[in-house]
Amino acid sequence: MAKRTQKRRPSFLITAGPTREYFDPVRFISNPSSGKMGIALASASVNRASHVTLCLGPVASPKIRGVRIKRFESAVDLLRLVEREMKTHDILIMTAAVCDFRPSSFLRSKIKKNAHKLRLRLVKNPDILCRLVRRFQGSKKFFAGFAAETDNVSRNAIKKLHEKNIHMIMANRVFKEKRGFSTDASQIKVFIRGETRPFCILKGEKKDIAKSLIPIIIDKYALFTESCLVRKR
Ligand code: C5P
Repeated sequence: MAKRTQKRRPSFLITAGPTREYFDPVRFISNPSSGKMGIALASASVNRASHVTLCLGPVASPKIRGVRIKRFESAVDLLRLVEREMKTHDILIMTAAVCDFRPSSFLRSKIKKNAHKLRLRLVKNPDILCRLVRRFQGSKKFFAGFAAETDNVSRNAIKKLHEKNIHMIMANRVFKEKRGFSTDASQIKVFIRGETRPFCILKGEKKDIAKSLIPIIIDKYALFTESCLVRKR
């Protein structure tokens, strides 16, 4: 009888939700991300993964059997969390809506509102995917991102795929026909590194998109790990 090789299930690290960038104890800048896409992906991956960790921003905590939840608030918190967790996971899916900028300083006491104007100085947050890809270069870790765009969706997503040097990116248009942030439905175009055309387009409820997307990510991860072995020979 032919010997069947039992493939090990990959482990998933998924990020979801917005970051909050505080400038005093009660005020912050953020965005309206609901975390729904990442939560749907965590739930869809549970039965196909060796283990799943969901890094979740400040949104209501879902109860998903079999998913370990770790919380974050700021982009810097998320960077530290993902750097630590990635050591024990194979696949990173970043759906978190990371604020690109944070206030340059944090005041320990609440800022008084007597002044008519308040100047906020912002500094750039680290690009978490870029950092992680660099840090784990040469390992068999697989990186996937999401790109929320308002226009030139495909062009911008492909640019990010290359700039961040990740394996795949899912592009979606926001603020159009109520798709994108905070909604239950979405439409995403999947782009794979090395392929010029979109791999597929997935439409519908985020939980259905997640169910279709997880097997694609697992297949692409398997191809990637096989190509790593061939290169090593
Ligand atoms: O914000 P941007 O369009 O660059 O997001 C594309 C991908 O990069 C997303 O998966 C997002 O989670 C990730 N990202 C990141 N670090 C940032 C900004 C975005 O990892 N500072």
